[in-house]
Amino acid sequence: MDVLETLREAFQKRYGAPPETVCFAPGRVNLIGEHTDYNGGHVFPCALSLGTWCAARRRTDGTVRLATLNIPRSGVLRHPLGYRAKPGSRCWSRYPEGVVNAFRHAGFSIPTGMDLLFYGNIPSGSGLSSSASMEVVTGAVLRVLYDLHVSRVRLAQLGQYAENVYVGVQCGIMDQFASAMGRRGHAIYLDTATLRFEYAPLHLSDCQIVVCNSRVKHSLASSEYNLRRSQCETALAALRTVREDLPALGALTPEEFEAMSDAIPDPVCRKRARHAVYENARTKLALEALRADRLEDFGRLMNESHVSLRDDYAVSCPELDLLTELAWTTEGVVGSRMTGGGFGGCTVSIVKSRALERFQTELGRVYRERTGLEPEFYVVEPGDGVRRLV
Ligand code: ADP
Ligand code: MG
Repeated sequence: MDVLETLREAFQKRYGAPPETVCFAPGRVNLIGEHTDYNGGHVFPCALSLGTWCAARRRTDGTVRLATLNIPRSGVLRHPLGYRAKPGSRCWSRYPEGVVNAFRHAGFSIPTGMDLLFYGNIPSGSGLSSSASMEVVTGAVLRVLYDLHVSRVRLAQLGQYAENVYVGVQCGIMDQFASAMGRRGHAIYLDTATLRFEYAPLHLSDCQIVVCNSRVKHSLASSEYNLRRSQCETALAALRTVREDLPALGALTPEEFEAMSDAIPDPVCRKRARHAVYENARTKLALEALRADRLEDFGRLMNESHVSLRDDYAVSCPELDLLTELAWTTEGVVGSRMTGGGFGGCTVSIVKSRALERFQTELGRVYRERTGLEPEFYVVEPGDGVRRLV
């Protein structure tokens, strides 16, 4: 049975009526441009064919009921419209409820409660942004149910607002933007400072994009994330003592940065800024490489990105380093790097189709031997952004 049928049946069973609409929003993988989004730089994600579905129906009262097929025995949650989880809550419903609150905060009229049922096929917490896809799909069903005029870019922004304010994760706009704006067969070259973007056709010829889930998520991920953000802010403030009008680290070329980096007194903050500047430059070069069909160059830039994330930004971990090092020495691998925030989660690799099987068995075998963990592989297709299915 396909997902749509399963969802409709489960919806009927839980809520006693069929859904008025079903929408889908994808997860994303970022090919290059990591930890640049909150530094006013460029990112280069593509949406996936994996994602989150939401079936929904308006109610006549002010109650919001929520359920997910992903958490066994999680039952149906029942909250008043406008409900806000207590600080520190880990409940999954704070993502969709955050979106409802973000819409209301932005002045959209949501006059009734609703019944929502979610299902997702993204491995959650692995850096493929199940959270953003859940936020964007929630926005999409609100748009349908209440006939709201919200552009897809706005859906992304409201999703980000929900995650920042109601979930408490200070993420940039990339994940939600990719989920809302993805295009099949394309990656999105996005300037996070201005939201100017262009679609870049992913001519992968005889290659595939392979995501490998390390199956680890180190607990320091979110505290270190917030620390990196503040280190970058410190570096930016220091650079502003020599260039007052500098808007963001992403505005600097590597040459400009090298000429003024001594203004950052703390060597750690200097390294963090160095990553932000060079990673942004690499992302521009990656776009050019893709346009010129120089996939080998694109791969080399991915490898350099990993080294920079490992050494200058210090957001990798032994498991991610092992996976990328194994990939780099495997025949038929064009490029490989960690993707997402770091401290676990996934790597993304571009692999020749003929080498795909060996890539998975060899990497899997050595990784298992050295870590005792079973990695997961996903051969992903760049897919379309959010859409209404029913
Ligand atoms: P990522 O976005 O990389 O997958 P996050 O930690 O940001 O990781 O988000 C994962 C969280 O999002 C899950 O722990 C869960 O609370 C919520 N979530 C995502 N998808 C679903 C789903 N289909 N059903 C219920 N909760 C979900
Ligand atoms: Mg997330």
